[in-house]
Amino acid sequence: MPEGPEIRRAADRIELVLKDQIADKVQFGLAPLKKYAKPLTGSKVLKLETRGKALLTHFDSGYTIYSHNQLYGVWRVVKRDKLPKTNRQLRLAIHTQEHSALLYSASDISVWRTENIEEHPFLKRIGPDILNPHLGWRDVAERLQSKAFAGRALNSVYLDQTFLAGLGNYLRSEILFLAGVHPEQKARDLTRGQIGKLARTTLEVSQRSYALEGVTLPERQYTALKKKGVTYGKARFFVFGRASQPCRICGTKIKRTTANSRRIYTCGNCQQAPRQN
Ligand SMILES: [Zn+2]
Repeated sequence: MPEGPEIRRAADRIELVLKDQIADKVQFGLAPLKKYAKPLTGSKVLKLETRGKALLTHFDSGYTIYSHNQLYGVWRVVKRDKLPKTNRQLRLAIHTQEHSALLYSASDISVWRTENIEEHPFLKRIGPDILNPHLGWRDVAERLQSKAFAGRALNSVYLDQTFLAGLGNYLRSEILFLAGVHPEQKARDLTRGQIGKLARTTLEVSQRSYALEGVTLPERQYTALKKKGVTYGKARFFVFGRASQPCRICGTKIKRTTANSRRIYTCGNCQQAPRQN
């Protein structure tokens, strides 16, 4: 499943051809949406916003198209009207003078007045997106300490889209490792310093993975490994997918376990388990 950084990069590729462009023609595959083709035609695309796995395409006519790919949806960007050969159902097409952005197979698509978009049931439920530029580490710290999340194990919180949208399995392992906290710990048992570090690490790792195309290592460290001939797959993470290999910080063997039915990787030395009372 794609996580926030991958989703944002996919959105960037679509935004590259749509942003500030006039939608010459807009087509919907689902019958109830066809009535929106007309009011959207001729309006300009302002931006594409990601909220977890939801994509919001904002138009200057005051409309926003909400789409969620779920498991099957797939976007394609092509030269105008050069539609690929496929058996997939075309559900949304936004044509500019030069390009066509096409959404196939997705069925979770709706059109909203932009001022009402926050009332979408999915958006109401999820937390802020981890790559939202307005999200600061203090906001993350506050959410960690809030009633909804403070008493739950971090391994569960760090997959929960109501905490922060866009979190996922590799980010969970990488963030908790770099913050030096054990996945079974709860925010309410952490010190102020640990909360601050965890909150800052959450944003840093997510932003770095976005900027470095899925790499969570600092750029210099990653580049040094690449120069030694280490592949992208083996050089990109601190712990995720590195079972039995030495911790990049202390050399201890990385452990793979399961939490919330998903694999998680930890260093038993860098991330001390909570003390049982
Ligand atoms: Zn370690």
